[in-house]
Amino acid sequence: MSHYKSGLEYAKQLDQNDVLASFRNQFHIPKDKNGNDLIYFCGNSLGLQPKSTKEYINQELEDWANLGVEGHTEGKNPWLHYHEFLTETMANVVGSKEKEVIVMNSLTANLHLMMVSFYKPTAKRYKILIEADAFPSDKYAVESQLRHHGYNDKEGLVLWKARKGEELANYNDLEAILAEQGDEIALIMIGGVNYYTGQFFDLKRITDLGHKNGCVVGFDCAHGAGNVDLDLHNSGADFAVWCSYKYLNSGPGSLSGAFVHERHANRKDLNRFTGWWSHNKKTRFKMRDEFDQLEGAEGWQLSNPPILSMAAIRASLDVVKEAGFKNMIAKSKELTGYFEFLINELNHSDIKIITPSNPDQRGCQLSIQVKNADRTLHDKLTAAGTITDWREPDVIRCAPVPLYNSFTDVFEFVERLKKLL
Ligand SMILES: *Cc1c(COP(=O)(O)O)cnc(C)c1O
Repeated sequence: MSHYKSGLEYAKQLDQNDVLASFRNQFHIPKDKNGNDLIYFCGNSLGLQPKSTKEYINQELEDWANLGVEGHTEGKNPWLHYHEFLTETMANVVGSKEKEVIVMNSLTANLHLMMVSFYKPTAKRYKILIEADAFPSDKYAVESQLRHHGYNDKEGLVLWKARKGEELANYNDLEAILAEQGDEIALIMIGGVNYYTGQFFDLKRITDLGHKNGCVVGFDCAHGAGNVDLDLHNSGADFAVWCSYKYLNSGPGSLSGAFVHERHANRKDLNRFTGWWSHNKKTRFKMRDEFDQLEGAEGWQLSNPPILSMAAIRASLDVVKEAGFKNMIAKSKELTGYFEFLINELNHSDIKIITPSNPDQRGCQLSIQVKNADRTLHDKLTAAGTITDWREPDVIRCAPVPLYNSFTDVFEFVERLKKLL
């Protein structure tokens, strides 16, 4: 039984008791033509801008203006070590040790870099397993890795599909695939939280299954980072990647994160693509001939990083740190549980939530399937001042985010939906 109640007064009461309510004021909330706040449920696509981001970026612009190249060492936040300002909070958010995490490059690029090291096909074991409705970029990336190694991308790609008439992937089916062809699968690469259904996979369970069958296991956590408790270290996953512009509010196209489990920190036998930023920090600028591998996830860096983008990540992570990631997860469960309650209360046959109802198997996103794949409902919601996103063939993805969405947002959204239905 749900402990939620109907009515606006109840939503207001939940907002009053919300320890994170004041954080909304730390963000720019997009407005409609009349200057009213839009209901923004699209943090799963592009998180909103913290008001502090401008200051953080301006600081670096100023140091560049005033110091030029000296900013690398003399700036207020010396650029040479700038990525280290991000490590502690990022590690905390994804549940890793500090040396297991690095911010670098963009997401799909990092996925490829990880596969350079962790997809090592042999004649017998060369296939890659992904979930059937994986994010297109991930699917294209693994297909191109198969081709790059000389395999047929149709034959080499194994899909973990939902059963006919079902939306969510079932672990029994994954077990069956592995029982049948586990010895041919080199790599399991799953979206930690599926972008379409919002299903949060059991990373540890998948990793254990994969390892038992001799497969390497990695996750794309673009929809998980900042949204759910990934606990990457304890999951035992070999690697993970994610972006910082969705639930981590770091701006369009901002840098990506990567995790490499500490058991791989010093491995010399892995294939790697390297650059000067993969080299031992102590001797990097001696510009020596011989390469000396930097240990840990940092050792996968190639280039000196874009500081302006990192400044935006730093601003955002400082907000997360102030709010406390545990508080964010706790509020998120309430916010989404309340959202689910109100949608179910509508009891309308044209819409159905396909996201798992178990709060431990989802983040904040609810994917609402619309009967007859009717996109007009989404477009009407937009016209009514709400920002959600439509995904083909038939889903409206709605993500109430704990840092800047309120219980009143959720209530108001469902009121507008009710009118349109
Ligand atoms: C958002 C997202 C991407 C986008 O990749 P970019 O390289 O950042 O453009 C890729 N994969 C998943 C699972 C995503 O959610």
